[in-house]
Amino acid sequence: MSTAKLNGQIALVTGGDSGIGKGVALALAEAGAKVVVNYAHHAEAAEEVVKHITDAGGEAFSCKADVSQEAQVQAMFKEVFKQYGTIDILVNNAGLQKDAKFVDMTLDEWNTVIGINLTGQFLCAREAAKEFIRRGVDDTRSRAAGKIICMSSVHEVIPWGGHVNYASSKGGIMMLMKSMAQELAPHKIRVVAIGPGAIQTPINKEAWETPEALNKLLTLIPYNRIGQPEDIGKLAAWLASDDADYITGTTIFSDGGMTLYPGFADNG
Ligand code: NAD
Repeated sequence: MSTAKLNGQIALVTGGDSGIGKGVALALAEAGAKVVVNYAHHAEAAEEVVKHITDAGGEAFSCKADVSQEAQVQAMFKEVFKQYGTIDILVNNAGLQKDAKFVDMTLDEWNTVIGINLTGQFLCAREAAKEFIRRGVDDTRSRAAGKIICMSSVHEVIPWGGHVNYASSKGGIMMLMKSMAQELAPHKIRVVAIGPGAIQTPINKEAWETPEALNKLLTLIPYNRIGQPEDIGKLAAWLASDDADYITGTTIFSDGGMTLYPGFADNG
Protein backbone atom coordinates (compact mmCIF):
# COMPACT_ATOMS: atom_id res chain seq x y z
CA MET A 1 0.00 0.00 0.00
CA SER A 2 1.50 3.33 -0.99
CA THR A 3 1.80 6.14 1.51
CA ALA A 4 0.66 8.56 -1.14
CA LYS A 5 -1.66 11.43 -1.56
CA LEU A 6 -4.68 10.44 0.51
CA ASN A 7 -2.85 9.02 3.48
CA GLY A 8 -5.10 8.67 6.52
CA GLN A 9 -8.12 10.28 4.87
CA ILE A 10 -11.55 8.67 5.19
CA ALA A 11 -13.51 8.03 2.00
CA LEU A 12 -17.05 6.77 1.45
CA VAL A 13 -17.83 5.32 -1.97
CA THR A 14 -21.50 4.66 -2.66
CA GLY A 15 -22.18 1.60 -4.79
CA GLY A 16 -18.59 0.58 -4.09
CA ASP A 17 -19.30 -3.10 -4.60
CA SER A 18 -19.39 -3.11 -8.41
CA GLY A 19 -18.03 -1.58 -11.60
CA ILE A 20 -16.80 2.01 -11.38
CA GLY A 21 -17.44 2.25 -7.62
CA LYS A 22 -15.24 -0.78 -7.03
CA GLY A 23 -12.50 0.73 -9.24
CA VAL A 24 -12.74 3.97 -7.28
CA ALA A 25 -12.69 2.22 -3.88
CA LEU A 26 -9.54 0.30 -4.84
CA ALA A 27 -7.79 3.38 -6.25
CA LEU A 28 -8.56 5.50 -3.16
CA ALA A 29 -7.26 2.72 -0.92
CA GLU A 30 -4.15 2.42 -3.09
CA ALA A 31 -3.60 6.16 -2.51
CA GLY A 32 -3.75 5.57 1.26
CA ALA A 33 -7.39 6.33 2.16
CA LYS A 34 -9.49 4.28 4.55
CA VAL A 35 -12.51 3.29 2.51
CA VAL A 36 -16.14 2.68 3.41
CA VAL A 37 -17.64 0.48 0.72
CA ASN A 38 -21.38 1.20 0.53
CA TYR A 39 -23.69 -1.33 -1.09
CA ALA A 40 -27.44 -1.72 -1.46
CA HIS A 41 -27.91 -5.44 -2.08
CA HIS A 42 -24.73 -7.46 -2.58
CA ALA A 43 -23.00 -7.88 0.77
CA GLU A 44 -20.58 -10.52 -0.54
CA ALA A 45 -19.43 -8.34 -3.43
CA ALA A 46 -18.82 -5.47 -0.99
CA GLU A 47 -16.90 -7.80 1.34
CA GLU A 48 -14.73 -8.88 -1.59
CA VAL A 49 -13.74 -5.26 -2.22
CA VAL A 50 -13.00 -4.83 1.50
CA LYS A 51 -10.86 -7.99 1.48
CA HIS A 52 -8.96 -6.83 -1.59
CA ILE A 53 -8.09 -3.61 0.28
CA THR A 54 -7.21 -5.21 3.61
CA ASP A 55 -5.15 -7.97 1.93
CA ALA A 56 -3.05 -5.20 0.42
CA GLY A 57 -2.50 -3.67 3.88
CA GLY A 58 -5.23 -1.03 3.72
CA GLU A 59 -8.29 -0.34 5.88
CA ALA A 60 -11.92 -0.66 4.82
CA PHE A 61 -15.34 -1.82 5.89
CA SER A 62 -18.63 -2.33 4.08
CA CYS A 63 -21.87 -0.58 4.93
CA LYS A 64 -25.36 -1.30 3.62
CA ALA A 65 -27.67 1.60 2.70
CA ASP A 66 -30.08 2.46 -0.08
CA VAL A 67 -28.88 5.96 -0.99
CA SER A 68 -32.39 7.07 -1.95
CA GLN A 69 -33.61 6.57 1.64
CA GLU A 70 -32.86 9.46 4.02
CA ALA A 71 -32.90 7.40 7.23
CA GLN A 72 -30.59 4.76 5.74
CA VAL A 73 -28.14 7.40 4.52
CA GLN A 74 -28.10 9.06 7.94
CA ALA A 75 -27.56 5.70 9.65
CA MET A 76 -24.67 4.97 7.25
CA PHE A 77 -22.94 8.26 8.10
CA LYS A 78 -23.42 7.53 11.83
CA GLU A 79 -21.65 4.21 11.27
CA VAL A 80 -18.81 5.90 9.37
CA PHE A 81 -18.33 8.39 12.23
CA LYS A 82 -18.52 5.61 14.83
CA GLN A 83 -15.84 3.54 13.11
CA TYR A 84 -13.55 6.21 11.64
CA GLY A 85 -14.48 9.42 13.52
CA THR A 86 -14.99 11.70 10.51
CA ILE A 87 -14.99 11.79 6.69
CA ASP A 88 -12.80 13.57 4.12
CA ILE A 89 -13.98 12.28 0.74
CA LEU A 90 -17.44 11.34 -0.51
CA VAL A 91 -17.72 9.64 -3.90
CA ASN A 92 -21.38 9.78 -4.90
CA ASN A 93 -21.26 6.90 -7.36
CA ALA A 94 -24.37 4.74 -6.89
CA GLY A 95 -26.65 4.76 -9.89
CA LEU A 96 -28.76 2.69 -12.21
CA GLN A 97 -30.76 2.72 -15.44
CA LYS A 98 -34.44 1.82 -15.99
CA ASP A 99 -34.75 2.29 -19.73
CA ALA A 100 -38.00 2.76 -21.64
CA LYS A 101 -39.35 4.63 -24.64
CA PHE A 102 -40.47 8.04 -23.41
CA VAL A 103 -44.20 7.45 -23.97
CA ASP A 104 -44.01 4.07 -22.24
CA MET A 105 -41.95 5.22 -19.27
CA THR A 106 -43.78 4.62 -16.01
CA LEU A 107 -43.73 7.05 -13.12
CA ASP A 108 -42.07 4.31 -11.10
CA GLU A 109 -39.21 4.04 -13.66
CA TRP A 110 -38.81 7.81 -13.57
CA ASN A 111 -38.95 8.10 -9.76
CA THR A 112 -36.61 5.17 -9.13
CA VAL A 113 -33.86 6.59 -11.35
CA ILE A 114 -34.21 10.16 -10.08
CA GLY A 115 -34.48 8.89 -6.50
CA ILE A 116 -31.25 6.89 -6.59
CA ASN A 117 -29.12 8.80 -9.11
CA LEU A 118 -30.01 12.38 -8.09
CA THR A 119 -31.76 12.45 -4.69
CA GLY A 120 -29.28 9.85 -3.45
CA GLN A 121 -26.40 12.20 -4.28
CA PHE A 122 -28.17 15.08 -2.51
CA LEU A 123 -28.77 13.02 0.64
CA CYS A 124 -25.19 11.75 0.89
CA ALA A 125 -23.60 15.10 0.01
CA ARG A 126 -25.69 16.90 2.64
CA GLU A 127 -24.50 14.58 5.41
CA ALA A 128 -20.87 14.81 4.25
CA ALA A 129 -21.00 18.62 3.97
CA LYS A 130 -22.37 18.97 7.51
CA GLU A 131 -19.39 17.02 8.85
CA PHE A 132 -16.87 18.93 6.68
CA ILE A 133 -18.25 22.23 8.01
CA ARG A 134 -18.28 20.97 11.60
CA ARG A 135 -14.64 19.83 11.42
CA GLY A 136 -13.23 22.51 9.12
CA VAL A 137 -9.81 22.28 7.55
CA ASP A 138 -7.28 20.04 9.25
CA ASP A 139 -4.15 20.66 7.23
CA THR A 140 -2.51 17.51 8.52
CA ARG A 141 -5.12 15.75 6.36
CA SER A 142 -5.77 18.00 3.35
CA ARG A 143 -5.87 21.64 2.25
CA ALA A 144 -9.66 21.27 1.87
CA ALA A 145 -12.22 20.67 4.60
CA GLY A 146 -13.68 17.96 2.38
CA LYS A 147 -14.16 16.75 -1.15
CA ILE A 148 -17.34 15.57 -2.86
CA ILE A 149 -17.01 13.74 -6.18
CA CYS A 150 -20.27 13.20 -8.05
CA MET A 151 -20.41 10.42 -10.65
CA SER A 152 -22.15 12.06 -13.54
CA SER A 153 -21.92 10.86 -17.16
CA VAL A 154 -21.39 12.09 -20.70
CA HIS A 155 -25.20 12.18 -20.55
CA GLU A 156 -25.08 15.34 -18.50
CA VAL A 157 -24.48 16.92 -21.94
CA ILE A 158 -25.41 14.27 -24.54
CA PRO A 159 -29.19 13.80 -24.79
CA TRP A 160 -30.22 10.12 -24.70
CA GLY A 161 -33.47 8.96 -26.23
CA GLY A 162 -34.91 5.87 -24.58
CA HIS A 163 -33.19 6.91 -21.34
CA VAL A 164 -34.75 10.28 -20.47
CA ASN A 165 -34.92 9.46 -16.77
CA TYR A 166 -31.21 8.63 -16.69
CA ALA A 167 -30.11 11.63 -18.78
CA SER A 168 -32.31 13.92 -16.65
CA SER A 169 -30.71 12.56 -13.48
CA LYS A 170 -27.22 13.26 -14.86
CA GLY A 171 -28.15 16.75 -16.09
CA GLY A 172 -29.50 17.33 -12.57
CA ILE A 173 -26.26 16.09 -11.03
CA MET A 174 -24.34 18.69 -13.02
CA MET A 175 -26.36 21.57 -11.48
CA LEU A 176 -26.42 19.93 -8.05
CA MET A 177 -22.61 19.72 -8.22
CA LYS A 178 -22.12 23.29 -9.47
CA SER A 179 -24.58 24.84 -7.00
CA MET A 180 -23.09 22.93 -4.08
CA ALA A 181 -19.60 23.93 -5.22
CA GLN A 182 -20.60 27.61 -5.28
CA GLU A 183 -22.29 27.50 -1.87
CA LEU A 184 -19.68 25.35 -0.13
CA ALA A 185 -16.44 26.84 -1.48
CA PRO A 186 -16.21 29.43 1.35
CA HIS A 187 -16.14 26.44 3.73
CA LYS A 188 -13.14 25.09 1.79
CA ILE A 189 -15.19 22.20 0.44
CA ARG A 190 -14.49 21.17 -3.14
CA VAL A 191 -17.27 19.63 -5.22
CA VAL A 192 -16.53 18.15 -8.65
CA ALA A 193 -18.05 15.65 -11.05
CA ILE A 194 -16.63 12.94 -13.23
CA GLY A 195 -18.32 12.36 -16.58
CA PRO A 196 -17.45 8.84 -17.69
CA GLY A 197 -18.07 7.76 -21.25
CA ALA A 198 -18.54 4.04 -21.89
CA ILE A 199 -16.88 2.11 -19.08
CA GLN A 200 -16.98 -1.68 -19.13
CA THR A 201 -19.24 -2.57 -16.18
CA PRO A 202 -22.45 -4.55 -15.57
CA ILE A 203 -24.62 -1.42 -16.17
CA ASN A 204 -23.97 -1.46 -19.96
CA LYS A 205 -23.18 -5.15 -20.55
CA GLU A 206 -25.34 -5.35 -23.67
CA ALA A 207 -23.19 -2.62 -25.26
CA TRP A 208 -19.94 -4.64 -25.05
CA GLU A 209 -20.70 -8.32 -24.53
CA THR A 210 -20.69 -9.29 -28.23
CA PRO A 211 -18.09 -8.19 -30.83
CA GLU A 212 -20.90 -6.62 -32.92
CA ALA A 213 -22.17 -4.57 -29.99
CA LEU A 214 -18.66 -3.49 -29.04
CA ASN A 215 -17.83 -2.44 -32.64
CA LYS A 216 -20.99 -0.36 -32.77
CA LEU A 217 -20.09 1.25 -29.44
CA LEU A 218 -16.56 2.01 -30.65
CA THR A 219 -17.96 4.14 -33.50
CA LEU A 220 -18.95 6.58 -30.72
CA ILE A 221 -15.47 6.62 -29.15
CA PRO A 222 -12.75 8.42 -31.15
CA TYR A 223 -10.02 6.97 -28.93
CA ASN A 224 -11.27 3.53 -30.00
CA ARG A 225 -11.32 1.64 -26.74
CA ILE A 226 -13.90 1.05 -24.05
CA GLY A 227 -13.01 2.55 -20.67
CA GLN A 228 -12.18 0.52 -17.58
CA PRO A 229 -13.12 1.14 -13.94
CA GLU A 230 -9.42 1.87 -13.21
CA ASP A 231 -9.54 4.82 -15.62
CA ILE A 232 -12.17 6.41 -13.39
CA GLY A 233 -10.56 5.19 -10.16
CA LYS A 234 -7.27 6.94 -10.93
CA LEU A 235 -9.07 10.15 -11.87
CA ALA A 236 -11.12 10.08 -8.65
CA ALA A 237 -7.98 9.56 -6.54
CA TRP A 238 -6.34 12.53 -8.24
CA LEU A 239 -9.41 14.77 -7.90
CA ALA A 240 -9.63 13.91 -4.19
CA SER A 241 -5.98 14.77 -3.64
CA ASP A 242 -4.45 18.19 -2.92
CA ASP A 243 -2.90 18.05 -6.42
CA ALA A 244 -6.40 19.07 -7.57
CA ASP A 245 -6.89 21.61 -4.77
CA TYR A 246 -7.84 24.47 -7.13
CA ILE A 247 -10.49 22.45 -8.96
CA THR A 248 -14.10 22.88 -7.91
CA GLY A 249 -17.47 23.20 -9.63
CA THR A 250 -16.62 21.44 -12.86
CA THR A 251 -17.03 18.10 -14.57
CA ILE A 252 -13.97 16.25 -15.82
CA PHE A 253 -14.93 13.95 -18.68
CA SER A 254 -13.10 10.65 -19.03
CA ASP A 255 -14.66 9.38 -22.22
CA GLY A 256 -12.11 8.67 -24.96
CA GLY A 257 -13.59 11.62 -26.84
CA MET A 258 -17.24 10.58 -26.77
CA THR A 259 -18.29 14.19 -26.14
CA LEU A 260 -16.43 15.37 -29.30
CA TYR A 261 -19.41 14.76 -31.64
CA PRO A 262 -17.58 11.93 -33.47
CA GLY A 263 -20.31 11.91 -36.15
CA PHE A 264 -18.80 15.18 -37.43
CA ALA A 265 -15.26 13.77 -37.77
CA ASP A 266 -15.48 13.56 -41.61
CA ASN A 267 -17.47 16.65 -42.28
CA GLY A 268 -20.75 15.47 -40.65
P1 NAD B 1 -22.80 -0.92 -11.81
O1 NAD B 1 -24.16 -1.43 -12.08
O2 NAD B 1 -21.64 -1.84 -11.89
O3 NAD B 1 -22.74 -0.19 -10.40
C1 NAD B 1 -23.78 0.58 -9.89
C2 NAD B 1 -23.65 0.58 -8.39
O4 NAD B 1 -24.70 1.36 -7.82
C3 NAD B 1 -23.75 -0.83 -7.81
O5 NAD B 1 -22.78 -0.98 -6.82
C4 NAD B 1 -25.15 -0.82 -7.20
O6 NAD B 1 -25.25 -1.71 -6.11
C5 NAD B 1 -25.22 0.62 -6.74
N1 NAD B 1 -26.60 1.02 -6.44
C6 NAD B 1 -27.69 0.95 -7.24
N2 NAD B 1 -28.78 1.36 -6.56
C7 NAD B 1 -28.36 1.72 -5.31
C8 NAD B 1 -29.00 2.23 -4.16
N3 NAD B 1 -30.31 2.47 -4.13
N4 NAD B 1 -28.23 2.49 -3.07
C9 NAD B 1 -26.91 2.25 -3.06
N5 NAD B 1 -26.25 1.74 -4.12
C10 NAD B 1 -26.98 1.49 -5.23
O7 NAD B 1 -22.60 0.30 -12.84
P2 NAD B 1 -21.41 1.34 -13.02
O8 NAD B 1 -21.22 1.47 -14.46
O9 NAD B 1 -20.28 1.00 -12.15
O10 NAD B 1 -22.12 2.68 -12.51
C11 NAD B 1 -21.60 3.48 -11.46
C12 NAD B 1 -21.95 4.94 -11.73
O11 NAD B 1 -21.27 5.37 -12.91
C13 NAD B 1 -23.43 5.21 -11.96
O12 NAD B 1 -23.79 6.43 -11.35
C14 NAD B 1 -23.51 5.34 -13.48
O13 NAD B 1 -24.58 6.14 -13.88
C15 NAD B 1 -22.17 6.01 -13.76
N6 NAD B 1 -21.74 5.88 -15.15
C16 NAD B 1 -21.40 4.69 -15.69
C17 NAD B 1 -20.98 4.63 -17.01
C18 NAD B 1 -20.57 3.35 -17.68
O14 NAD B 1 -20.33 3.36 -18.89
N7 NAD B 1 -20.44 2.24 -16.98
C19 NAD B 1 -20.91 5.80 -17.77
C20 NAD B 1 -21.27 7.01 -17.18
C21 NAD B 1 -21.68 7.04 -15.87
